[in-house]
Amino acid sequence: MNFYMPAKVYSEANCVMNHSVELAALGTRALIVTGKNSARRCGAFGDVTAALEEHGVTWVEFAEVEENPSVETIMRARTVGCKVKADFVIGIGGGSPMDAAKAVALMMKHSDADWPYLYDKSAETSTLPIALIPTTAGTGSEVTAVSVLTRHDKKVKGSIPHKIFAQLALVDGKYVSSAPASVLANTTMDALCHLYESYIHAKATDYSRMCAEQGIRVWARSKDVILGKRAASAEDFQNMMNASTMAGMAIAHTATSLPHALSYRLTYSAHMAHGKACGYFLAGYLREADPNAVRHILKLAGFESIEELEAYYVKTCGRDAVPQEILAQTVQEVLGNDAKMKLPPFAVNEEVLTRIAGL
Ligand code: NAP
Ligand code: FE
Repeated sequence: MNFYMPAKVYSEANCVMNHSVELAALGTRALIVTGKNSARRCGAFGDVTAALEEHGVTWVEFAEVEENPSVETIMRARTVGCKVKADFVIGIGGGSPMDAAKAVALMMKHSDADWPYLYDKSAETSTLPIALIPTTAGTGSEVTAVSVLTRHDKKVKGSIPHKIFAQLALVDGKYVSSAPASVLANTTMDALCHLYESYIHAKATDYSRMCAEQGIRVWARSKDVILGKRAASAEDFQNMMNASTMAGMAIAHTATSLPHALSYRLTYSAHMAHGKACGYFLAGYLREADPNAVRHILKLAGFESIEELEAYYVKTCGRDAVPQEILAQTVQEVLGNDAKMKLPPFAVNEEVLTRIAGL
C-alpha cells in the first residue's frame, strides 16, 4: 500500500490570484495550454495571465486543444512551446487541455524525441513543471498522473504509459459556474464514475476509499442542482469541483475500472461525451459487484437503489441508443485486454461484460 499525491492543491475562491507567487515560481515563461473558448470565457485565462504578469513572468498561449486531444495536437503545442523557450506549462480547462498539458510538458522536456516517445513504456518520464486549473467538475486530472490521448492512426483513445503529476492544482469553483447544463451533467457523472469505480476496484485500499467516500458525500451536495431542482450557489460549484478533485485522488491510487474501459470506444466511434459514455455502463457495473458495498456507496450519494441511479443518469445525461456493433466491439476489445479484465474485485468473463454493456 502506498499513498502518493505530490500535487499541491489549493481549493478556494480566487486561488489563482491568492497563490500567484507559487504559480509564477514554476518558471520564467509559461506555455498556457487551453481549449478553443471556455478557458477565456470562464475567467481562468484572464486570472492566470494577470497572476503571471504581476510577477514578471511572460507567457505564450496554445488554444487549440480539441475534446479528446490527439497526439498530433500535442506535437503542435510542443513546437509552439519550444520555439519560444517556455520553461513550464499551465493547463486550463476540462480534462482535455489538462491531459494535453501533461503530455506537452513531457515532450517539451524531451524536445528531440518524436511522438512515439509518448507511448514508449521504457522512456524516461521527466517533464517541465506543470500547473493545472480545472474548468469542469469531472476528470480530476489536476491530481491524477494520467494523460488520455487519442491516436487516430489506430483509431483508439487511451492513457499514455507515462505517469505525470502536476506540481500545482488551483481549484476554483467559479470557473465551472459558466458551464452549460450538459457539461455540468456529463462531467459530474464522470466524477461519480471515478468515485464508484475506485471504491469497487481490485486495488482499493482504506486510503483510496477515504478519498472515494468523502468525494461521494461532497458530490451528493450538488445532486439537486444537476437535477434542476434548485439553482446553484457559489458553494455548490466549489463542491462539484472538490468532489471531482477527491475522485481524482481516489483513481490516482486505484485507476478506473470497467465503465471507463468500455467507454473509450463509445467516445471514439459514437462521439459520446466522456462522462456520459462512462455513466452508460455504471449501473451495469454496480449490478455485478458486492451488494453490500454497492448499497453503502449508493446511500452515501443519496440513491436508494441502482434503478434510482440509472434514472438519475437518464434524466441528467440522457440515454442515447448506441449501435449494437459498437457495444459488441468494446466488449471484445476489453475482453482481449488482460490488464483491464483484472480491474474489478470480481471475476470477469465475456458474459459479465455483455451484461454490463446491456447487450
Ligand atoms: P473537455 O473535453 O475538456 O471539454 C468538453 C467541453 O466543455 C469543451 O467543449 C470545452 O470547451 C467545454 N468546457 C470546459 N470548461 C467549460 C466551462 N467552464 N464552461 C463552458 N464550457 C466548458 O471535458 P472533460 O469532460 O473535462 O474532459 C474529458 C477528457 O478528460 C477526456 O479526454 C477524458 O478521457 C479525459 N479524462 C482524464 C482523466 C485523468 O485522470 N487525466 C480522467 C477522466 C477523464 P473548450 O474546448 O472551449 O475548452
Ligand atoms: Fe473519467
